Amino acid sequence: MKKLIVLFSATLFLIACANNKQPKQVDKKDSTAMQSEVPQSIDVRFVDNTKDPSCGMPVTAGISDTVSYKGKRYGFCSKECKANFLKNPEQLVAAAELKK
Ligand SMILES: [Zn+2]
Repeated sequence: MKKLIVLFSATLFLIACANNKQPKQVDKKDSTAMQSEVPQSIDVRFVDNTKDPSCGMPVTAGISDTVSYKGKRYGFCSKECKANFLKNPEQLVAAAELKK
């Protein structure tokens, strides 16, 4: 019976530790959000193309909009480029230069 109590308190301790980690992550997120005044852009890692298919700009310059097309995620520098892509995706998809 003693063993069971020890195990139980150990489990509680582990749960408490896991809970303690969560607020720390939120704090970190908040501080980085406060540091950057630039509007949040979409991370390059989340898109499959290396170039904006509409204007040819590298996605590393900044992505403000994305679209999913045939299972791939394409990033665009602006909403205008996204709109332009959606007018003729079949042709522009070749210019997107997908990551390998
Ligand atoms: Zn563009």
